[in-house]
Amino acid sequence: MKPVILFAGGVTRWPHWEGPLRAALHDAQIDADLVTTAAPETVDYILYAPGGDTPPDFTPFTRCKAVLSLWAGVERIVGNPTLTQPLCRMVDPGLTQGMVEYVTGHVLRAHLGIDALLSSQNGRWNPVVPPLASERPVAMLGLGALGTACAKALAGLGFPVLGWSRRARDVSGIACLHGDAGLRAALRQAQIVVTLLPSTPETENTLNAETLSLLPRGAALINPGRGTLIDDDALLAALASGRVGHATLDVFRVEPLPPDHPFWAHPRITVTPHVAADTRPSSAAHALAENIRRSLAGEALLHVVDRTAGY
Ligand code: NAP
Repeated sequence: MKPVILFAGGVTRWPHWEGPLRAALHDAQIDADLVTTAAPETVDYILYAPGGDTPPDFTPFTRCKAVLSLWAGVERIVGNPTLTQPLCRMVDPGLTQGMVEYVTGHVLRAHLGIDALLSSQNGRWNPVVPPLASERPVAMLGLGALGTACAKALAGLGFPVLGWSRRARDVSGIACLHGDAGLRAALRQAQIVVTLLPSTPETENTLNAETLSLLPRGAALINPGRGTLIDDDALLAALASGRVGHATLDVFRVEPLPPDHPFWAHPRITVTPHVAADTRPSSAAHALAENIRRSLAGEALLHVVDRTAGY
């Protein structure tokens, strides 16, 4: 019997995914029924992205072997008590490349002082030469699929990169730190901080009044991770005191960011609307097909979420 793959990524996404998914399943030599509706007890795999206000009930999917997330961040599904099947998160070259481009672009923007240069077209010749990248330490909070790729790209440009993760890591060219002391050491040195941590109870408010106070004065902050990583009020206070010179924020506690939120009008905050790295169906479909192929062949799934750790 053909495996049944249920696309539960939302009706608006289906037209963008159908073609790439069918092509990727064909390439992986998987003969399956790819559907958007099915009797739950007939479904073998669920391709999932959050949508709507009601958490899904996975209980009736008694035959389902894995739920494959279309997104890298799984905080909206990882704690779902009805989900008993393995949950795999999205790791895909298109997503990673998008994040590398976003992070590299915004780090260079902060490093070169591009905003100040653009706003100084006033006839005054004021040559302020930026330091070289080698003189600008960057902290990368999170050394996962995305953080590691971004850290390596920045190190390749010459930035000294301090990486921070939950467990001890060894990434060539990156000063790897972990634990509370590691976070503090990274923040004390970092003139630019990038947050690429998942949203979990442990990472909530990683950047708060106390940790932000460790930063060198005028440090730049770039958050493409999740809104929960930063205490919003503490960030506004750190901007007011000058501890943080500028913040570029892609993700927020409430999305879309409400129109009356103080971040919008703040002169030293750049808001980007959760666009740092999108999941591209053309490449991500292959990641999904590979996991289905593995499951069908009895091989271990890739990128299985650790429910206890929450990512
Ligand atoms: P990942 O591979 O799971 O890596 C997560 C990293 O965070 C790991 O290095 C992990 O440490 C570290 N970490 C987790 N909990 C920690 C803790 N309590 N203390 C210190 N470090 C901790 O995730 P990823 O694929 O790189 O993605 C990271 C996040 O980016 C996603 O969860 C998502 O929220 C966000 N994202 C945003 C966008 C966007 O468009 N803005 C797009 C995609 C993803 P270990 O290495 O020790 O496990």
